[in-house]
Amino acid sequence: MPPITKDEAEGTEYDLFVIGGGSGGLACARRASGSYGAKVGLAEGSPQLGGTCVNVGCVPKKVMWYTADVADNLRKAPYYGFGDEAAEVAIPKFKWNYLKKKRDAYIKRLNGIYEKNLVNDKVAYHQGWASFVSKNEVKITKDDGTSYNVKAKKIVVAVGGRPTIPSDDDIPGASYGINSDGFFEIEEQPKRVAVVGAGYIAVELAGVFHTLGTETHLMIRHDKVLRTFDPMLQDVLGDYMEKTGVNIHKNTNVKKVEKTETGLKVYTDSSDEPVEVDVLLWAIGRHANTEKLGLENLPNIELDKQGDIVADEYQNSNVEGVYVIGDVAGKVLLTPVAIAAGRRLSNRLFGPEKFKDDKLSYENVPSVVFSHPTIGSIGMTQPEAEEKFGKDDLKIYNTSFKAMSFAMLEEKDKQPTSYKLICQGENQKVVGLHIIGEGSDEMLQGFGVAIKMGATKDDFDSCVAIHPTSAEELVTLR
Ligand code: FAD
Ligand code: NDP
Repeated sequence: MPPITKDEAEGTEYDLFVIGGGSGGLACARRASGSYGAKVGLAEGSPQLGGTCVNVGCVPKKVMWYTADVADNLRKAPYYGFGDEAAEVAIPKFKWNYLKKKRDAYIKRLNGIYEKNLVNDKVAYHQGWASFVSKNEVKITKDDGTSYNVKAKKIVVAVGGRPTIPSDDDIPGASYGINSDGFFEIEEQPKRVAVVGAGYIAVELAGVFHTLGTETHLMIRHDKVLRTFDPMLQDVLGDYMEKTGVNIHKNTNVKKVEKTETGLKVYTDSSDEPVEVDVLLWAIGRHANTEKLGLENLPNIELDKQGDIVADEYQNSNVEGVYVIGDVAGKVLLTPVAIAAGRRLSNRLFGPEKFKDDKLSYENVPSVVFSHPTIGSIGMTQPEAEEKFGKDDLKIYNTSFKAMSFAMLEEKDKQPTSYKLICQGENQKVVGLHIIGEGSDEMLQGFGVAIKMGATKDDFDSCVAIHPTSAEELVTLR
């Protein structure tokens, strides 16, 4: 069913109106309408439903991670007896454009599924950009300039965010660079890239480029990647990236970018010579999509210093009847967090009595970085735990080894695995678990359940190991 038309929509009053058809907005709208029968409308400005995650985030990124993983496995193949004896067999040529077309078609299928899901759950889908007229009225403007207003008893803001990119005033030529959205538009594999940033997106996309054979420069402001993660993860990943040939430019800031006939010259403050690349990618964080939301019509709505809309633990903004979920609330920018916050909000607003206080706990949210190798992390980092409990109240367990899948490979081609468990108090409650190594992404979810339940070191040890796996090391730590 196509989006609702202006004539159908004009003047409608909804129980709930959701602005933004991404992870959080869709989940919230469908729960309120599909599960509880509320009259719900949802506006999405982009012609594609699904938001960042589906269109320019988790999903196409994970396809690229799988692609790089296939390349890694092809490199392993000769060691297992496939192909030439000489373990140096070139992997087959990779056709970036072929994969991109298939990836785009997959995303298009997902966009269609999201639209069908809205129909199934009887959510009225408005294709257009929404802005507040008042706390109970929203104006929807389509790309052709037409607009109409709808009313709602409650309004949820789920507009997400977009990549930050420096201005040309701050860094001349910065706009020659692309951001993570632009990464998904690349048609052919670049020979040389520079990725600026040290967070999730920078290490994930640098990892994809490098593993697929692009000369990769990672430019970081300080001397470590992933500085908000446990130091063990920073060290193991950073060292491995360097060992395998990613050029990490530490303590480096981009000063100027010049376009030449052959690509881009990136000038930095850490070298007199520019780095020459085909693509420069900024991955220096994201900011909330609040500029065109008509927030001036919600006098006194509270924003924080970053421009995110402040929400309390129940996702309430400080304007009655206006709620905030997902990235725009600026707290733990992950798809499952946006979805869980949206569903719980609808449970609370429209669900049965048992949900009258439902809210998402932002404590112990598991998170994975799709680097090469992958990282899993839940709970406190060691510095955070030491600050909260003091060193004497903690026992830290560490192990480092080479996973068995690399046993047939030469030492130089083996990926590292390192695990850390942070335990607190007399009963050694597990307050942090940090893992890097093959399979860490799939491994974390189950350990996450245990940690949410308050598991102790004894609980871990009481679970019989599964052999031979890497995960077994986490229940046999000494
Ligand atoms: P979004 O999904 O961004 O949705 C917001 C929607 O609102 C958009 O569709 C936008 O067009 C629309 N909108 C904005 N303004 C208006 C308006 N005024 N009117 C109507 N519509 C509007 N998270 C993970 O958990 N795992 C991952 O592996 C992962 N990988 C990522 C990789 C990348 C490259 C990026 C950029 C992000 C990744 N994330 C990942 C984060 C994840 O994508 C976000 O946390 C998630 O999409 C947030 O959901 P949301 O609903 O808050 O916002
Ligand atoms: P992040 O906040 O993770 O990282 C951005 C990093 O860039 C900062 O940590 C900072 O590192 C560095 N930085 C900031 N400003 C500058 C600057 N001016 N110049 C150079 N470096 C700078 O943001 P991302 O954009 O990587 O990702 C956004 C969010 O999306 C993530 O926080 C995450 O929540 C989500 N995401 C989740 C993924 C997953 O679940 N696997 C994957 C991708 C994104 P430093 O201070 O060390 O310089």
